[in-house]
Amino acid sequence: MTSYVFITGGVVSSLGKGITSACLGAILEARGLTISMIKLDPYINVDPGTMSPFQHGEVFVTQDGTETDLDLGHYERFVRTAKGGRHSNYTTGRIYESVIAKERRGDYLGATVQVIPHITDEIKQGVKKGAGDADICLVEIGGTVGDIESLPFLEAIRQMGIELGHDRVVYVHLTLVPYIPTSSEIKTKPTQHSVKELRSIGIQPDILVCRSEKPLPDDERRKIALFTNVQEKAVISAWDADDLYKIPAMMHDQGFDDIVARQLGLDLPAADLHEWEAIVDAKQNPSAEVNVAMVGKYMNLKDSYISLVEALQHGGIHTHTRVNIHYIESRDIEEQGVDCLRDMDGIVVPGGFGDRGIEGKIDAVRFARENGIPYLGICLGMQVAVIEAARNLAGLKGAMSTEFDKKTPHPVVALITEWQDQTGDTEERDEQSDMGGTMRLGAQAVALQEGTLAATSYGATEIEERHRHRYEVNNNYRDQLSAAGLVFSGLSVDDLVEMVELPGHPFFLASQFHPEFTSNPRDGHPLFKSFISAAREHSAGELPKAKEA
Ligand code: GLN
Repeated sequence: MTSYVFITGGVVSSLGKGITSACLGAILEARGLTISMIKLDPYINVDPGTMSPFQHGEVFVTQDGTETDLDLGHYERFVRTAKGGRHSNYTTGRIYESVIAKERRGDYLGATVQVIPHITDEIKQGVKKGAGDADICLVEIGGTVGDIESLPFLEAIRQMGIELGHDRVVYVHLTLVPYIPTSSEIKTKPTQHSVKELRSIGIQPDILVCRSEKPLPDDERRKIALFTNVQEKAVISAWDADDLYKIPAMMHDQGFDDIVARQLGLDLPAADLHEWEAIVDAKQNPSAEVNVAMVGKYMNLKDSYISLVEALQHGGIHTHTRVNIHYIESRDIEEQGVDCLRDMDGIVVPGGFGDRGIEGKIDAVRFARENGIPYLGICLGMQVAVIEAARNLAGLKGAMSTEFDKKTPHPVVALITEWQDQTGDTEERDEQSDMGGTMRLGAQAVALQEGTLAATSYGATEIEERHRHRYEVNNNYRDQLSAAGLVFSGLSVDDLVEMVELPGHPFFLASQFHPEFTSNPRDGHPLFKSFISAAREHSAGELPKAKEA
């Protein structure tokens, strides 16, 4: 029987509710429990797939190909048993979409369809599906208590508390405890108000997690407990950590998991947090340092590439390397040239959509290729590597992806429908592309060619990785590109290009899939370990041996 921990947030957003939930999951898992994790998002979009990474950060893709909120990425990085999927992320839009579809089908037998009970029932059913058969399901409610749009979700979790009972449901509320420098005071009032708001809709939190700059003094902890009707020991202080991976231990040391276990009547073995300690240790004692440029388009919002940034750091953890990431707008390369890449030990071009800054990305690939700088291309980063090779190695002038130039003379990257019966007639391409290919989403098998950098990095020839893209390398150009030196080292079961590399180069590897979605700090990821190792060798001035084709 699954028990539930509901995590709400108050005072302001962006307090790190996702990380807090993920860390609690990690500690409970370290005490032998299986965990499932769900994010409830009160916005109206049916899923975050259509939302701009500028506003909302990265779209995380689960194994089964669901486009989800970036918090699902935190969950998978922290909790091994929490495998996200279709039932792990619900938005208001998705809940309403399903209720309205039922209403149109007549499923409600003529009843007046209302927020309570129809919307709340739909939410509860969704949560139960997402919980699966885990021992504990952690459910994070997006937004802040007091928002109009989160009310149906809060009402649904309130009802679950009554239905399942106090020994199967724990309410955790995350708030901000600000420090006012002018009066040197810590302020608990916003927390008091936030809990009051939550209680006014019928939810009494069992545990408060108080975000603050510094550890919360005992006096303030006592005061918060008194005013919020929460036990003093259940007021957990979550101060700003200089390292994300210190948070599980920080919370465990204050008995967070004990309080949850006691309320749920669970008698658990002690938490084994040694893997988290090893990560912190590796990060604090690097034996080398590398500078990696990430050339992309949303560089002022780091959350747009959060899984990739994390995966690069995991590569550092597992090679004892400090990884300094330099965020470079590809537009700047177009305007100011590639000088900013000169001192880099590695260059990454991440995934992306839209043509802004595309030539800057192609220039960055060229610079990495010509100067022997380790290059890792991800999704769009592989497509630009193919375009660069087509133009500058195969002599295909004007080569481009049809995503950016419908009339390119050499559509080396295009929608499958565009290249499968290529007529050379650009008008027709135009029409066909309107019908669009659909997105290739989720985990798919990839066969790696033995002896290639791809296969040696993975130490395997059969892998599975997640996808999120529409365009593919045009198979009609494969012979010309191979003759020019590009190796297609990974292919899908249906013969689509999954990985490319350049054998004469110290490390030039790119994938159509997104390896960053399956990287986690404890296990690392073969591709990122291998890339950071190559960057290390570059920084030491010893170029890795060229790999045989
Ligand atoms: N825009 C490209 C495509 O749709 C790449 C997508 C990506 O990088 N995720 O194929």
